[in-house]
Amino acid sequence: MSKETLLKHLRNIPDYPMAGVQFKDVTSWFMNPDDLREIADTLYERYKDKGITKVCGIESRGFVVGAILAEKLGAGFVPIRKPGKLPYEKVSIEYRKEYGFDRIEMHKDSINERDIVLVHDDLLATGGTSSAACHMVKQFNPRKVMANFIIELTNFNARERFPMDVEIDSLIAMDELDNIN
Ligand code: AMP
Repeated sequence: MSKETLLKHLRNIPDYPMAGVQFKDVTSWFMNPDDLREIADTLYERYKDKGITKVCGIESRGFVVGAILAEKLGAGFVPIRKPGKLPYEKVSIEYRKEYGFDRIEMHKDSINERDIVLVHDDLLATGGTSSAACHMVKQFNPRKVMANFIIELTNFNARERFPMDVEIDSLIAMDELDNIN
């Protein structure tokens, strides 16, 4: 399946959740068996030889393909969650959003120094959440950290926010305002 075909199946919701945002609704892919398989298989091919031992999925849309990919790679899955959702001892990191600050958390025993980690989310926009996730994962001193997104909105220049040594990759790079359907 071509990227053009995938893009045709992606629903765009104007002005959601607030005016001015062009929301890329990845659930329109997740509900379509062919699209979901295409995304999972393509990412598997891309990462199968990288020695990945843990996939960290960012709540909540990053859980879907993150968990599928972890299983296909023979890696473990680690959830990165909003505050107060994880039951065990945690590490957390605060990061700046457009208005104010936010926080994400992960279990303190989820990564070790032998791990090779892939941080996954559905979409990279400003990179606030996912760059904070990579900084948090690096506190565990794993052997390597990579970051992957199904969609990258290039107009936000988010790659600048990540630690220099994090390898970043996306399946589909586009401008938020590109006409997709
Ligand atoms: P970010 O600005 O990169 O921190 O985005 C945080 C989260 O918001 C991402 O994980 C996406 O799931 C979601 N998000 C941000 N902008 C969009 C958008 N235009 N369409 C769909 N999801 C978005």
